[in-house]
Amino acid sequence: MYWNKKIECADRSDMRRLQLTRLREEVAYEYDRVPVYRKKMDEAGVKPEDIQTLEDIQKLPFMTKEDFAENYPTGLFAADQKDIVRIHASSGTTGKPKVAGYTRRDLADWGEAVARGMTMAGQDENSVIHVSYGYGLFTGGLGAHIGGETIGATVIPMSSGNTKKQLTFLTDLKSTMLCCTPSYALTIAEAAQKAGLGPDDIALQAGLFGAEPWTQAMREDIESMLGIEAHDIYGLTEVTGPGVAISCGKGEGMHISEDLFYPEIIDPKTLEVLPDGERGELVLTTLHKQGMPVIRYRTRDICYLTHEKCACGRTTVRMSRIFGRTDDMLIIKGVNVFPSQIETVIGTIDELTLNYKILVGRVRDRDTFELQVELAEGLEIEDIAFVEALREKVSHALREMLGIGCKIRFLSAGTLPRNGGKAVRVEDTRNFND
Ligand code: ADP
Ligand code: ZN
Repeated sequence: MYWNKKIECADRSDMRRLQLTRLREEVAYEYDRVPVYRKKMDEAGVKPEDIQTLEDIQKLPFMTKEDFAENYPTGLFAADQKDIVRIHASSGTTGKPKVAGYTRRDLADWGEAVARGMTMAGQDENSVIHVSYGYGLFTGGLGAHIGGETIGATVIPMSSGNTKKQLTFLTDLKSTMLCCTPSYALTIAEAAQKAGLGPDDIALQAGLFGAEPWTQAMREDIESMLGIEAHDIYGLTEVTGPGVAISCGKGEGMHISEDLFYPEIIDPKTLEVLPDGERGELVLTTLHKQGMPVIRYRTRDICYLTHEKCACGRTTVRMSRIFGRTDDMLIIKGVNVFPSQIETVIGTIDELTLNYKILVGRVRDRDTFELQVELAEGLEIEDIAFVEALREKVSHALREMLGIGCKIRFLSAGTLPRNGGKAVRVEDTRNFND
């Protein structure tokens, strides 16, 4: 099933033609209405008329997170305030919040993009969509919400937290789709298990999980515990919110709504555009945005693209899962460490759950590095021989992956705090400003 077959299965040449038309309009609009970006283009010696082909996008200057900080709060808005009908702001995982403004048409496009993904996940007007992303400035809640309304489903605006109540509504209202962060999906799945609810007791068919990086292991856990098909949804406030890309479940990666968002992958050091299959930083250009368009926006998210035809029949480009952010890379004892590498290791060890925390500190000019991770339900932390053998195993696997040692602390299942939103995985108390 397709929500918008004409676009999702378009001929490549038709799609490129549409993209070029929209790109030219978007650049002209931005040049006209956003003085900060006009200045950048003037400095780069490029005019809107210079965009004659899609490849000409490479002549345009990048926009960055710093542009948002410098023009906080609304310096990058292009529409008149009377036409802005909604404000959101990034959750501020990194730095100052970034404020986004939407016109009516922008909201309709957002609903359209999410609707395509919900349809990929088998949902329609008969579905009951349980939204456990946070509602508010964060784009997760209202983003999933507008997608559910667009397909005409029954939408339950649960927001996050109060896991017990979540379970009650999930079962009593027979929800068919759960939308939340993958870490919260795991919390809900654990709570369901504790309450003795198996896949047969819940009507859920699918989940739309995103807003934070997650691994294949985590997907498998959530899928088997809840008996659902888990779909990955990617997006960011600056570009609109969740729904830029969504996985179909038939092929690897996530289909990008290419008529709305134009992707490129660059080498974050040389800024050169990289070919399909090569990992680099995702750069996104909005093609149909009025409130706050972005041109060549450097997301800092690391992934790769593929144009290979997908088994689902869609022709749109796919992006891989996100491997991390260029800015969540930790340098510990001089070695580059991504939290996703640690999660991958944890995922291969049956005795551990995917609830973990990484603590980095500094004592007498030396980095300290500790991993706290919960044991699987039913395993005893007091069993010294077992714990020591496990420590050896985890320690070895981490050293193989990272090349450095790490102190390991096991916790009983359920001890790390769950916040319902994006999981806070890293606590880095080092201070490099002294
Ligand atoms: P913040 O940067 O404050 O977290 P947002 O709430 O807008 O702001 O979150 C967007 C970011 O969340 C993305 O840039 C990306 O790093 C992460 N993200 C969103 N969806 C996914 C996903 N499906 N997989 C991995 N990371 C994701
Ligand atoms: Zn597909």
